[in-house]
Amino acid sequence: MKYLSTRGDKAERHFSDILLEGLAPDGGLYLPISYPQVDAATLARWRGLSYADLAIEILSLYIDDVPAADLRALVGRTYTEAVFGTPQITPLKPLAPNLALVALSNGPTLAFKDMAMQLLGQLFEYELKRRGETLNILGATSGDTGSAAEYAMRGKAGIQVFMLSPHGRMSPFQQAQMFSLQEPNIHNLALQGVFDDCQDIVKAVSNDLEFKRKYRIGTVNSINWARLLAQVVYYFAAYFQATTSDTARVSFTVPSGNFGNVCAGHVARQMGLPIEQLVVATNENDVLDEFFRTGVYRPRGAERTLETSSPSMDISKASNFERFVFDLLDRDAARVKRLFGEELASKGFFEITPEERARMSERYGFVSGRSTHEDRVKTIQLCHQRYGVVIDTHTADGLKVALETRREGVPMLVLETALPAKFAATIEEALGIVPPRPAALADLEDRPKRVTVLPVSVDLVKQFLVDHV
Ligand SMILES: *Cc1c(COP(=O)(O)O)cnc(C)c1O
Repeated sequence: MKYLSTRGDKAERHFSDILLEGLAPDGGLYLPISYPQVDAATLARWRGLSYADLAIEILSLYIDDVPAADLRALVGRTYTEAVFGTPQITPLKPLAPNLALVALSNGPTLAFKDMAMQLLGQLFEYELKRRGETLNILGATSGDTGSAAEYAMRGKAGIQVFMLSPHGRMSPFQQAQMFSLQEPNIHNLALQGVFDDCQDIVKAVSNDLEFKRKYRIGTVNSINWARLLAQVVYYFAAYFQATTSDTARVSFTVPSGNFGNVCAGHVARQMGLPIEQLVVATNENDVLDEFFRTGVYRPRGAERTLETSSPSMDISKASNFERFVFDLLDRDAARVKRLFGEELASKGFFEITPEERARMSERYGFVSGRSTHEDRVKTIQLCHQRYGVVIDTHTADGLKVALETRREGVPMLVLETALPAKFAATIEEALGIVPPRPAALADLEDRPKRVTVLPVSVDLVKQFLVDHV
């Protein structure tokens, strides 16, 4: 399998070439040159497999430059009951006939990002060792991504993590989760500013190409193809749990921000998994919902991005979205380059044709909806009263939209992207109870913390890197 760029760079690359990279050199995103097709016989063969074995089957279709035995070992170490809490790894939580949650948040940081990041930690360590290289991961986080990256990379040989977060602005749980890590290769830098300041510093350091090369700076952001690929697996795993025949159709609703999670669903559907609808659920930051309703993509700046009670979806420029548009436009790279390059830069938006708009649902199964704080609170209450299940705020956005869009007779699977313990304040507002927390994390906030507080300064962050790499 080889990979190309959505903006037309013709240099074809193998999996290992793009594993440690972000954007392609032409500013595009990497995609496989074609999607391997999975027929009914293959589905039948995969149906009985464990999660790890299923992951090996799917990853092997996309990775041809890691020896099979090595890939098997890496995947086997990743998807274990010890890490993800259950033998199924992503069990369904039935709510009602034809309605279930897919439990993706039982990993170490209680959000779905662990599903991919845990594998990325194994792959990075393996590939760096193979090349005799080391990597210093620099990132900015407002919560979920940073903690998932730190828990995936803790103790990994050849890797250090430098994670910037806004001082005092994450929830006490999220701060404790990151700052309690004692591994010497994990560095928490709390900056006296907001998330955008952290993001700006990461950009400034990454744009200093000489510094970046000299100190081997890299990232683990959501456009990484390996992360997306790892997420494809749980669409198959959920399908097998929800159905008894290999022709039955199911729908998925996906709480969305950067379009990474639902893009993995798109890839699964393109491979032939019988998915009826792929429902994109946004919160008040509804750029994606606007696109699927109107065909206009109009990303917003940080100043027009609202702070909501589903904060991991407070994103107004969906970094993975270009991958879907590339497929939607029949892989016309020149047009993608024009839309995401020139048109967004000059006009601030682009629009697809009415024919292409119709194609989004007819050919690709996409539907969308949005949810507000009031909807979230009501849906958390409804889910608790009607089904006896406490859900987190992001999953509530998903369930709200799922109940509006689901079709008679088609199982609707809502991806549970975080556990309620992570976003306790809104759960208390909705239900008047403190959400349950895994027993192993009972004393999290009392553990000793390792964090360095710094003013918002590119130079001081660079100095910290120089002193610690
Ligand atoms: C990251 C995240 C999302 C959004 O996922 P995308 O892949 O960015 O669309 C939704 N919910 C939670 C809890 C998250 O951490």
